[in-house]
Amino acid sequence: MVKEKRGTVIVSTSPSVRVAIGEMFGLEPGVNSTKKINAALKAIGFDLVFDTNFSADLTIMEEANEFAERVTKGAKLPMFTSCCPAWIKYVEIFYPELIPNLSTCKSPIAMQGSTIKTYFAKMKNINPEDLVNVVVAPCTAKKYEIRRDELNVTKRDTDFVLTTRELARMIKENDINFLNLEDSEFDSPLGLGSGAGVIFGNTGGVAEAALRTVYHFITNKDLKDEDLVFSSVRGMAGVKEAQIEIEGKVIKVAVLNGMKNAKNLIDKMKEEKLDYQFIEVMNCIGGCIAGGGQPKLTLLKMKDGKLKRIDGLYSEDEKMKKRVSYKNPDIIKIYKDFYGEVGSSLAHQYLHTSYKNKSYLLRGEDK
Ligand code: SF4
Repeated sequence: MVKEKRGTVIVSTSPSVRVAIGEMFGLEPGVNSTKKINAALKAIGFDLVFDTNFSADLTIMEEANEFAERVTKGAKLPMFTSCCPAWIKYVEIFYPELIPNLSTCKSPIAMQGSTIKTYFAKMKNINPEDLVNVVVAPCTAKKYEIRRDELNVTKRDTDFVLTTRELARMIKENDINFLNLEDSEFDSPLGLGSGAGVIFGNTGGVAEAALRTVYHFITNKDLKDEDLVFSSVRGMAGVKEAQIEIEGKVIKVAVLNGMKNAKNLIDKMKEEKLDYQFIEVMNCIGGCIAGGGQPKLTLLKMKDGKLKRIDGLYSEDEKMKKRVSYKNPDIIKIYKDFYGEVGSSLAHQYLHTSYKNKSYLLRGEDK
């Protein structure tokens, strides 16, 4: 139990957590435990349970807009995704010359934190310092990310990160019978995500989610249901490529998982001109479903387990009525009530960030 409460304690859960935590309670990888996690978090004592898929949609809105602007205004391309803190740190240390190519969008968890401590605090008339914001993530690097000063718009936007394994341990320590819990829904207003937000946990998911919205931003039209799936960026290959034509414009996308694959491509880009415009990079092989904070898979079950988690997220996306970020009603509302336009100055202030050249670390220097 959260024994000594300091204000309102909020928790948000990431998509990859829900298709893996069941493994700690005897379920197969990929089984979706979203509503049991919500119930467990309430039983532990959290006041409100939100969905990080909401801010994955927010990330897509800002990132797709940034990408569409870079394409139309001829700004720095390719644009690299920025939601993986391990990748960001890698660029800052080893390839600082690529900093202008990084999307300035914060990660979904960081956007969720800034939005909870500003929009939600204002809506509920709560002093942000009386809110404790916790996330449950598949990722150990998020424990480092929340301490990056440039991500915080309040004293600390995200107070604590629990990994999937740590939450499972909390559930067991609290003697909660996870499998027998009654289903529980997310709280509002940051508890609603689209199918695009769900697939963020898979390698290729960020690119696919972004392309669904980029198409709309460029054409002002909706993709047909059968065209929502970009199968060329799906699957466990370390390097995937896709070429998508939107109204005569060809967008060349690369999806990389594992830093070795990222390094190889960057080094290749230095030698020959590769005309990618959008590049997704995730540190973990398979994406966040295989993050360092997830239940451990034995070597024998590694590939099969990851594929089942990946399928778990894609099938959740398929079941959803809203599969594009710009149709999430809570996203429409937050822009109407708070952020204004996509890419507005307030959105830039709260949802975007900056990066630093940290190559001095390679030289063993402090700064
Ligand atoms: Fe974290 Fe791995 Fe996902 Fe990167 S790919 S955000 S390191 S879980």
